[in-house]
Amino acid sequence: MASGGLTGGMRGAIVPGRGLPRAFPVSPAPHRMSPRNHRALPALLAALLAPAALAAQSSDARVSAAAGRVAPAMVEVRHQIHQHPELGNREFHTAQLVADHLRALGIEVRTGVAHTGVVGILRGGRPGPVVAVRADMDALPVTENTPYPWKSTDTTTYLGQKVGVAHACGHDVHTVVQMGVASVLAGMRDQLPGTVVFLFQPAEEGSPPGEEGGAKLMLAEGAFTLRPSAVFGLHTFARMDVGRIGYTPGPAMAASDKFMVTIHGRQAHGASPELSVDPVVTAAQVVMALQTIRSRNLSPFEPSVVTVGMIRGGERFNIIPAEVRLEGTVRTFSPATQDTVERRMREILDGITHASGATYTMEYQRTTPVTENNVALAKRMRPTLDRVMGAANVSEIPPTTGAEDFAFFSNAVPGFFYRLGTVKPGTVSGDHHTPTFMADDASIPIGIRVMSDLLLDYLKGGAAQ
Ligand SMILES: [Zn+2]
Ligand SMILES: [Zn+2]
Repeated sequence: MASGGLTGGMRGAIVPGRGLPRAFPVSPAPHRMSPRNHRALPALLAALLAPAALAAQSSDARVSAAAGRVAPAMVEVRHQIHQHPELGNREFHTAQLVADHLRALGIEVRTGVAHTGVVGILRGGRPGPVVAVRADMDALPVTENTPYPWKSTDTTTYLGQKVGVAHACGHDVHTVVQMGVASVLAGMRDQLPGTVVFLFQPAEEGSPPGEEGGAKLMLAEGAFTLRPSAVFGLHTFARMDVGRIGYTPGPAMAASDKFMVTIHGRQAHGASPELSVDPVVTAAQVVMALQTIRSRNLSPFEPSVVTVGMIRGGERFNIIPAEVRLEGTVRTFSPATQDTVERRMREILDGITHASGATYTMEYQRTTPVTENNVALAKRMRPTLDRVMGAANVSEIPPTTGAEDFAFFSNAVPGFFYRLGTVKPGTVSGDHHTPTFMADDASIPIGIRVMSDLLLDYLKGGAAQ
């Protein structure tokens, strides 16, 4: 965002003139046993017959203690980012804050990746694989309506209109969770068997018109130059309580396509339809027929969506217009279904416009591929989730028709993407992308702990599946 810098609300060092915190009190000092760890020693000693279990418990305790130490600072940063959210490709202050934090931890930092992206590389003291972890940083043109004292009242200009800006998808939580993970893992770098690549990504929700951005551009600009053998990511979830984790093995989130159709007819007086080629009637037939792709051309067990979200044509009640424009989205979970939908759309448009004497043009963009959880990787990581969260709090959940550009990363290397419960128990959150979306601060230490343990366990297990 061009205006509305990050000011106020932060304890600790502030860089003069910029209003940005330079560093946070985040040194987790994990090389010595924490008091909590000492108290747990008798129980741990009892497990000496199972050295692997002991090692896991000891590591978990260290991660948990480090996450607990860093979480309060990350909650404060979250409030600050939340209060001053930035739209895609404009995450200037957020990226600066992230980069400063990583540098303060001694992590190698590359900035300006895909406009405002930040890549941090943490090299562990022991040999091991490379693993990547990704958080998105962008907000949405939504006017926030939550009871948070740190809610956003910022506005900006989007598509020529003045709009509110809000973290209505929880990317502020993703950003600070990953900053916290960086703190935890940097604090144990001597013991870290491998390398962690931290991806702080701009524009997950899409770039402004005419601009490229997001995961695809980060990859094009070398985010995976140090090639990881796996990539991890998480997302807040407006329908899951804090303390719970959900994931979907295999296809988890839909491919998102965008179509733009123009139906060309012939303009005439509304009273003389015989002189027209009526694109309104033609468009109406097209809209109805497109729904038969879902119901008649695909298996009932193959999920998909064809939505016409915009229909625009005409200037006056008694004029048949020359053209009508349709725009919409297609959501699918397999390339074969995606191909079928696009082919059937063209056939339906061909047939109906031919019968009407009209013509059409269609631009069909495959925007985001399916977000697929690598089944073997999900299976391998499940014990970590069960151990850290308690098995009763981890569940496999159905796929969602929302899309995620994490898909570009997880198409390049095996990926694991899960949902972090963020609803304060006993309350209700508005859905993602709405003014009343809320993610509870209590999810932040949990997110830090779970992601740190997943990455650690992955590195300790080596890259091989
Ligand atoms: Zn979103
Ligand atoms: Zn999102």
